[in-house]
Amino acid sequence: METQSPAPTRSLAEPWRQICRRCGHAFETPIWLIVDLEERPDLLPRLLDGSLHQAICPHCDASHALDAPLLVHDPVRERLLFAAQASSAPAQARRIARELGTRLIAALPRAARAPYLTRALHVRGLRELQRLLRENATGDALSAALPALMQATTPAEVQALVHSHPVLGTAEARAHLRDYVSTLQARGEASLARALQQRLEALAAAPDTRVALLHRLLHAGGPEQRQAVLARQPSIPAELPAMFEALAVQAERRGLAAVAHDLRVIGDETRRQIQARHPPTDRDA
Ligand SMILES: [Zn+2]
Repeated sequence: METQSPAPTRSLAEPWRQICRRCGHAFETPIWLIVDLEERPDLLPRLLDGSLHQAICPHCDASHALDAPLLVHDPVRERLLFAAQASSAPAQARRIARELGTRLIAALPRAARAPYLTRALHVRGLRELQRLLRENATGDALSAALPALMQATTPAEVQALVHSHPVLGTAEARAHLRDYVSTLQARGEASLARALQQRLEALAAAPDTRVALLHRLLHAGGPEQRQAVLARQPSIPAELPAMFEALAVQAERRGLAAVAHDLRVIGDETRRQIQARHPPTDRDA
């Protein structure tokens, strides 16, 4: 029987050498340099939350955000995105992008080697790449929700859609939809623009879903703003403090102690608000 060498994977992780900024020791850790979103969709959440390029020093447990390059291949959109290291010069960034691109193409079957693979969209740093990918995710979810949104005829029906399509509960999606209303108006599609505008108004009047409320609290500017957000809610979901605790535990696991602390502060605020609205009765005491 013929022995087969394993097929090369399109995604690539390689050892990365890092000097710990806290203890000064050098350590090596495997780091993803190429992520093919079709092959490894599981890596997308880690890319979006930044943990993909985070490493823990084995000597002192300090957590480091590594300044490593990353090539992302999205075969569905036929796109190649390259995030250069923040510290690299443009010529060096182009050379690394070329090298990673060549390795990706070599791992693809001949039929999949399309011309778009020779032109990566360059950004600087992981953060910029995350922003691009998040916009894509919102756009996709919104496209999927749009037919149902246009079919809903009453405000209550529109508001109920937030449960099946949580994206409709986000401020980002509503901003997209407002842009779309303007586009329709500019194209002279007045009745369609009006229909979408009515649905937008129904969405704006909908109470926040748990996830939307969580996001709103996370992005509020401080305790006063969070109080104001909570005060506007007709009811505060009882599981909200537990959701913040779960996020805090996740953050702790990644060595983000300060983030975990902030999440617990917000969780405590929501718990106090819930208790203030439902004071314990004599029976509970
Ligand atoms: Zn260290």
